Amino acid sequence: IQSKLPDVGTSIFSVMTQLAQECGAINLAQGFPDYDPPLELQEALARHATSSGHHQYAPMPGLPRLREAIAHKTARVYQVPAPDATTEITVTCGATEALYAVLAAVVHPGDEVLVLEPAYDLYGPAIRLQGGIPIYVPLSAPTLQPDWDRVKAALTPRTRLVMLNSPHNPSGAVLTAEDLEALTALLIDTNILVLSDEVYEHMVFDGVPHRSVLQHPALRERAFVLSSFGKTYHATGWKVGYCVAPPALTTELRRVHQFLTFAVSTPTQHALADVLEANPTHDQELPAFYQPKRDLFRELLAESRFELLPAAGGYFQLARYARISPTESDVAFAQRLTREAGVAVVPVSAFYHNNHDDGLIRFCFAKQEQTLRAAAARLREL
Ligand code: PMP
Ligand code: GLN
Repeated sequence: IQSKLPDVGTSIFSVMTQLAQECGAINLAQGFPDYDPPLELQEALARHATSSGHHQYAPMPGLPRLREAIAHKTARVYQVPAPDATTEITVTCGATEALYAVLAAVVHPGDEVLVLEPAYDLYGPAIRLQGGIPIYVPLSAPTLQPDWDRVKAALTPRTRLVMLNSPHNPSGAVLTAEDLEALTALLIDTNILVLSDEVYEHMVFDGVPHRSVLQHPALRERAFVLSSFGKTYHATGWKVGYCVAPPALTTELRRVHQFLTFAVSTPTQHALADVLEANPTHDQELPAFYQPKRDLFRELLAESRFELLPAAGGYFQLARYARISPTESDVAFAQRLTREAGVAVVPVSAFYHNNHDDGLIRFCFAKQEQTLRAAAARLREL
């Protein structure tokens, strides 16, 4: 068969998790918590899964009560007018489906899509499957903030979409209001759309709030903004996310969503609606939940030979391993770390279309304290 993605192997997240399982390693590779979602959420799902009436297709755009709850939450968190639950919010099968559906909905063959690199591994292949052309703009080392002059230089009459990700996977870098103003100035007189992947919106540290595209009206009117309940409720396996976008863009998204998955699991949506209604401010607890994990992990590795990069948001920590192994590729080092030291990590070259290798690995710190301590004990031996 003639492959449509001949250069794409199995996602690094699957590869490293499988290797971790084979080696019995502590898995700090793929991004997922090793703790469960809030009990109320589990109980809500059990309730809906074992009662009559919530087992058939949900409405294509998502359960109305869940979309209403999302609208209220969005207005409260970002201090903006609530998005219209009927015309501006679509519940999707994780942010993953939303990313793919948005790209399928708006990218025509030959369109250019601007991607800031390093970037989440899905972006490039999903653009190419639409016949789009990813245009990669490097984020500036060492903080991996965007260089808006480089972005400006990369825009052409064929640019269809700019992709943003803040807090950023893998670096944790967060965009500021000034960043979003700079982007607004570049896009104001164009038809270029924005796809803003904000799945780590509630994992921000040191009192710095997440700045959403939804807070910038001139961007919001041309943007698809994505969130993930998998991240917010420690439930990556539930695969529920959503997209907020103006009515005309939402119409286009739903044209694809209806043929991609049609709808999202019904009892799961009811459970999420229950907890959002009962405890609408759960998200406010997340910075204080995650910052101690980040701080503990950094403190535990301070005495190691890893050099830690800043981690302003998200749930990942980047580290340079040159003092341990100066010439080894990041893929080889990550595999050896998994096999020999018993700690699985992700090589950062997986986030570059050309496998650019800066000698960096990524740790996920969304783990229980005992897991972080056990991993750090092994890492400090190196
Ligand atoms: N975007 C980014 C940047 C992510 O890190 C992830 C999760 N790994 C996703 C999207 C996908 O989110 P979901 O699990 O809700 O599909
Ligand atoms: N987003 C997660 C990560 O960056 C992985 C998601 C996946 O495995 N597809 O590790």
